[in-house]
Amino acid sequence: MRINEIFYSLQGEGFLAGIPSVFVRLAGCSLRCKWCDTKYAWDKKAGTHYSIAKIVQTVQRWPCKFVVITGGEPMINPHLPELVQKLKAIGKHITIETAGIVFIPDLACDLMSISPKLSNSTPAEPKLAALHEDSRLDIAVLRRLIDNYKYQLKFVVDSQDDLLEIQQSIEKIGNVDTDKVMLMPQATTRNELLAKSPMVADMCKSDGFAFSQRLQVLLWDNERGT
Ligand code: SF4
Repeated sequence: MRINEIFYSLQGEGFLAGIPSVFVRLAGCSLRCKWCDTKYAWDKKAGTHYSIAKIVQTVQRWPCKFVVITGGEPMINPHLPELVQKLKAIGKHITIETAGIVFIPDLACDLMSISPKLSNSTPAEPKLAALHEDSRLDIAVLRRLIDNYKYQLKFVVDSQDDLLEIQQSIEKIGNVDTDKVMLMPQATTRNELLAKSPMVADMCKSDGFAFSQRLQVLLWDNERGT
């Protein structure tokens, strides 16, 4: 598998924020979101080739139960099911972070952390924008993911205008447990995070969604490997 990086940090986002976790970042994502904070993982050849045994061995360097498989977009990697199975076999709690554009059945994953992409993520370049618009929100895939896995839905909020689109997306997916929906400020720097957080907090209060922290940005200003 092409591994962009493996590192030990705190989970920064979602309901498990604050929990020490090992992150396995797989290479490859075709969505090209304009505010993506891991552009270095877009290229599916980015990083280094690891066997699954070597990934498992590297993860075991840290005395930590929680593993986060992230990207890029990990669900496009054909070897993901085997990696998840091997990590599960050594007793890890596994979160998969995905944009929710691909469904894979029967993954031994403990939490599917789904971040459906809104129109605020569409890149400016017309060709990329067309590709992004075509694939960023697949309602049927999202439906299957939430029907088959323990999940959280994290929406990245850039402005107040996003609230209507979030409400409409949740309605289209259908049968979403709103207790599992989180709103998260779009921010790649600490200053941006602090500036947008009060707005997102107000949106959470008005609609009863949870606020997702971005501890990696707050604590380390989005330094790589955190
Ligand atoms: S889906 Fe995630 S990794 Fe892919 S471009 Fe968007 S933010 Fe970046």
